[in-house]
Amino acid sequence: MSEQPEAIETDGFREECGVFGIYGHPDAANLTYLGLYALQHRGQEAGGIAAWNGKRIVFERGMGYVADLFDEARLARLPGRSAVGHVRYSTAGGSLLENAQPIVYNTNKGPLAIAHNGNLVNADELRAELEAEGSIFTTTSDTEVLLHLMARSRAESLVEALRDTLARVRGAYSIVLLAGEKVLAARDPQGFRPLTIGRLGDAWLVASETCAFDLLDAEPLRDVEPGEIVILDAGGVASSSFAMGRRTAFCIFEHVYFARPDSTVFHRSVAESRRAFGRRLAREHAVAADVVVPVPDSGIFAALGYAEESGIPYGMGLVRNHYVGRTFIEPKQSIRNFGVKVKLNPVRSVVGGKRIVLVDDSIVRGTTSKKLVRLLKSAGATEVHMRISSPPTTNPCHYGIDTPQRRELIAATKELGEIQAFIEADSLGYLSLDGMLHAFGKGEGETCAACFSGRYPVPFVAAEEQQPLFGEDDVHAPAGRDGKR
Ligand code: AMP
Repeated sequence: MSEQPEAIETDGFREECGVFGIYGHPDAANLTYLGLYALQHRGQEAGGIAAWNGKRIVFERGMGYVADLFDEARLARLPGRSAVGHVRYSTAGGSLLENAQPIVYNTNKGPLAIAHNGNLVNADELRAELEAEGSIFTTTSDTEVLLHLMARSRAESLVEALRDTLARVRGAYSIVLLAGEKVLAARDPQGFRPLTIGRLGDAWLVASETCAFDLLDAEPLRDVEPGEIVILDAGGVASSSFAMGRRTAFCIFEHVYFARPDSTVFHRSVAESRRAFGRRLAREHAVAADVVVPVPDSGIFAALGYAEESGIPYGMGLVRNHYVGRTFIEPKQSIRNFGVKVKLNPVRSVVGGKRIVLVDDSIVRGTTSKKLVRLLKSAGATEVHMRISSPPTTNPCHYGIDTPQRRELIAATKELGEIQAFIEADSLGYLSLDGMLHAFGKGEGETCAACFSGRYPVPFVAAEEQQPLFGEDDVHAPAGRDGKR
């Protein structure tokens, strides 16, 4: 019997990841390393690069930050003109090296290496089916299912095999695939996670976010569209649609928190979204105060917007120690609690004797906000008014963002007044869902805001909180060959 990771029984896999791919450059692995470096915020637990050395796929993977994982010698073991890479954080399956990506297989379709950002909501089902038929899995990651399905497809061409595979899976996936020297990339029909194409001289690139292209001085070209497969090879960029034109479900949380503000995601500047959220927040929850203080880094652009709209001066009242990892994703509660203090320190000259508007992007468990209110008060702030640039986080993500189970989400179990009391703030205001969507410039029908609304655009198995919002026809991934979804 396979040992199922704990989270399967509760929330399913939850992964935060970044992917990168390059075709046609003599320093493919080196550029992949740089690309991953720029995407490090999308996952700090593990990373890896796979390259086509002309004869076979060679790969290097490990636990930790990209900069610590790779040095010149290790990159020199990855020669070739095409490569794919991955950065990962996942709570499911534990911190296992085996779960690091790219996952590499030799198959009847040739050597394949895959890197995936997202979460396949029917992976458990498919995995059980494949295991019942004799498949052996070497990881606890949902991504491995994709390679098994590729290998089992009867299709002759690689692209057809990928289409067959994607017809069987549901959920969120932005994938890059190294297939011999070719690089393929695909995005799920709803386009939950970003994936974008760039060009560097004669080389073609794909990356989760445009900030990876900026570092390489590459030119951003266009997104891989939802429901599109692109093939990067000697012929340039070819496109094959497998499920285009469906209802999209762009993850709004990418703009609230997850993506880098200097990226353009879903055709929109992340920094601009955050500023617009902040401006709207100021209109919805005005308060008399002396200074608007962001929680760095995630609250910075929203706080700027709040300050602009309210006319209250902006002040860097908290300074971040940049040498500490993201507190939230340290695996142990004790480290997380400790981490808030380690990571952020108040600037007494900015906050002392002042009424503060403290702006953060979200409250998850409430631990961070509570500590920050206390820190600011201990530094002399007379009042702390907490303002959140998104609605209350009431539901876990099933499409690739790491959120704790529902019962751990403070807004799922407590009313506004209780949350305010818990975090010890003088007042608390969240941006409304309507206000957020308005500021985002996209309707709920093209966005995924399930973590705030509980309305999940793609149904998933064993969901406790599922309330599908949209008609079945609009939301499902393409039917599998056997008609199963
Ligand atoms: P908490 O202390 O649990 O309320 O966490 C809130 C903090 O975590 C906020 O400062 C957010 O910026 C940050 N945060 C929210 N969602 C995530 C996530 N999925 N991964 C990492 N950090 C997050």
